[in-house]
Amino acid sequence: MKTAHAVTLVGAGPGDPELLTLKAVKALRRATVALVDDLVHPGVLRYLRKSARIVHVGKRGGCVSTPQAFIHKLMVAEAKRGERVVRLKGGDPFVFGRGGEECDALREAGIEVEVVSGLTAGIAGPATMGLPVTDRRYSRGVALVTGHAGSAEGDPDWAALARCGLTLVIYMGVSRAAVIALALHQAGMAAHTPVAVICRAHLPLQRQAVCTLAKVADTLMDGDLGSPAVLVVGDVVQATPFWRELIADNAASSAAMPQRAAAAV
Ligand code: SAH
Repeated sequence: MKTAHAVTLVGAGPGDPELLTLKAVKALRRATVALVDDLVHPGVLRYLRKSARIVHVGKRGGCVSTPQAFIHKLMVAEAKRGERVVRLKGGDPFVFGRGGEECDALREAGIEVEVVSGLTAGIAGPATMGLPVTDRRYSRGVALVTGHAGSAEGDPDWAALARCGLTLVIYMGVSRAAVIALALHQAGMAAHTPVAVICRAHLPLQRQAVCTLAKVADTLMDGDLGSPAVLVVGDVVQATPFWRELIADNAASSAAMPQRAAAAV
């Protein structure tokens, strides 16, 4: 029986392959098998050896019913066969990437894990529009939260977040943005709080917009603003030239919170 090599969880960053770390490239060059998520830019795969086997395990990979359990089994099986497995993920493996669960599954199977961090979309995305998420002139820190859960147990405590004074960086929040904005407002966040939306950051079709909390739903009606996207909520958005342009256009005046998402909160 062959010795199982450590599996390497590699963060590929949010898009542009130039954002890979040198460590990520080294791990890719060593790999004999790569298990690749949907959000990984195809250009990243050019750093693999020609002989490496590439397995796409994202939602389009044909494992809709029990994807995570399937991925765990596959990683363990390949590592036990003596393959050098790289598990390639968009952004950072430990930021909404299920990296923790995958580490647990591997360790439980007696396989070592290495983690190569990547640039996360919630920080590298805003940076493309000159948005420093922890700029001390505006904020004492940043909370990375999911907008996706949609259940009482899984949802972040929007009321607490509305009052915490931190920049909120919301992943997976586009489809529920109106509901989230209203929940934040109902907990006391001002309707004129600045918001930035960054879509497809570090990809050729990147789009971004700034608006107020009151205008989030309207802003997202723009067909150019699609997934994947992060939302940044908080005064740091004022640090961007985009916000100054918005103010100059006077579009941020008379912000009133739309109430139509109320039933969904
Ligand atoms: N591990 C990833 C996050 C995975 S969750 C990371 O660290 O970036 C998937 C969510 O990440 C998407 O719904 C979106 O909110 C965000 N995301 C990923 N890539 C993105 C990109 N290029 N531009 C904007 N948001 C992105």
